[in-house]
Amino acid sequence: MSNYQRVQWARLSRHFVFSDPNFDLAGTKRFHHEARNGGAEDAKLHYFPIFLVASRLQQVFYNAGVKSWDVIVVGGGIIGLSLAIALRKRGLRVLVVERGEPGREASHAAAGMLADCAIEMPSALQPLATASARMYPEYVHELEDESGMPVDLRSEGTILFPPSEHVHERPGFSAKSLLPAPLAELEPALADLNRPAIYLKERSVDPRALVEAAHRAAKHRGVDFSSGDPVTSVDLADGRVVGVTAAKTSFLSPIVVNCAGAWSGQVPPYRFPTRPVKGQMLSVAAPSRTLLGHVVRAPEVYLVPRSNGRIVIGSTLEEAGYDKRTDAETIRKLQQAAVGLIPELARTRMLEAWAGLRPGTPDDLPILGATPTPGYYVATGHFRDGILLAPVTAHVAAQVICGSKPDYDIAPFSFARFRIQAA
Ligand SMILES: Cc1cc2nc3c(=O)[nH]c(=O)nc-3n(C[C@H](O)[C@H](O)[C@H](O)COP(=O)(O)OP(=O)(O)OC[C@H]3O[C@@H](n4cnc5c(N)ncnc54)[C@H](O)[C@@H]3O)c2cc1C
Repeated sequence: MSNYQRVQWARLSRHFVFSDPNFDLAGTKRFHHEARNGGAEDAKLHYFPIFLVASRLQQVFYNAGVKSWDVIVVGGGIIGLSLAIALRKRGLRVLVVERGEPGREASHAAAGMLADCAIEMPSALQPLATASARMYPEYVHELEDESGMPVDLRSEGTILFPPSEHVHERPGFSAKSLLPAPLAELEPALADLNRPAIYLKERSVDPRALVEAAHRAAKHRGVDFSSGDPVTSVDLADGRVVGVTAAKTSFLSPIVVNCAGAWSGQVPPYRFPTRPVKGQMLSVAAPSRTLLGHVVRAPEVYLVPRSNGRIVIGSTLEEAGYDKRTDAETIRKLQQAAVGLIPELARTRMLEAWAGLRPGTPDDLPILGATPTPGYYVATGHFRDGILLAPVTAHVAAQVICGSKPDYDIAPFSFARFRIQAA
């Protein structure tokens, strides 16, 4: 055993807890037990020179210690967790290495609108957005089933007050309202706004519950986790991936997928052009659970009701680096804008204010698929739509990683559209 191997083994045995039932440190004990009780290993031991016996023991210890995985996913947000589950379903052994706790970054901060509407979606993303919105009921059903917890998927739909330029520019929209019933009947609590409105058949979900369910479902399926363990580099040998180095230890795998969200560009060798786009939000306790049924979206503010009576109000789009602090004045303005839509919200109590970092890219599109380094893949940059796009991203990324042709064209999201240099 080289010094390097000895150090790795010592670090692994100190820090790592494996959830894979096929791997346990007792495996080494079984070896001793068989040897003592005249097993095949025992017979060999008698005749081997002592240095070979020592070498064999070291090999067994070393091989047991450096378990390898078929795929390592860097980052346990909704994208990494959904992909880990999709790969596990295909029979692969998967490890998620997460800097903090899984699901506590952008995926925890999101509003949870599954907004696949053509008015607001970049056209290159529309096919994936539509597909993902269709996949949602089945995706949620599986997560709820495997995690044993509800994720509050709601199907009441959205009332959209589009920006005035869209009403005139986009085909199919007129200055008149496109609603199945008068606004006052659909949402009696809405102010009399005298603005064109559109009804959209969209769903919403509670992202905190969703990401917690995905974490539980992944564990239930046998995905391994190393949490509190930032990946510092993707390791290469002879130009292809062999694993990752993280703060606690190194992990071996021929395939690594970067799902590190707004931090994706910080993991060498590639500086993916992801950047944090801050969003501040607040939630209030509605005076009654029936105050608001639909998601309401206007250019100045959106409101997303939860079934427990909370209403989530958002959001800002700020270029503020990795700063997640909230600003009292900004939160107050969001709350005021919400009261402009629903006057009764003036009487509500604020429950919480928070900020999250969306993974933005220069063209607002995700980066999805293979990199020029064999074995290294990326699924990041989902910006404002990562909750919506999680099921389809997991589906196509798993297809690409397993060598199948993806069901949807992912060429617009290729790594190759940017001039990305290896660090
Ligand atoms: C305020 C706000 C509102 C939003 N609303 C919506 C919405 O209504 N609908 C919608 O579809 N989307 C919405 N989004 C966008 C959505 O939240 C994101 O697109 C999505 O969560 C991105 O998921 P992710 O897994 O890529 O990133 P994250 O959830 O940020 O996960 C990335 C993970 O990688 C980990 N990580 C980072 N660096 C490392 C490293 N070196 N080693 C190991 N782990 C690492 C992080 O700790 C993190 O857990 C919103 C976002 C915000 C901020």
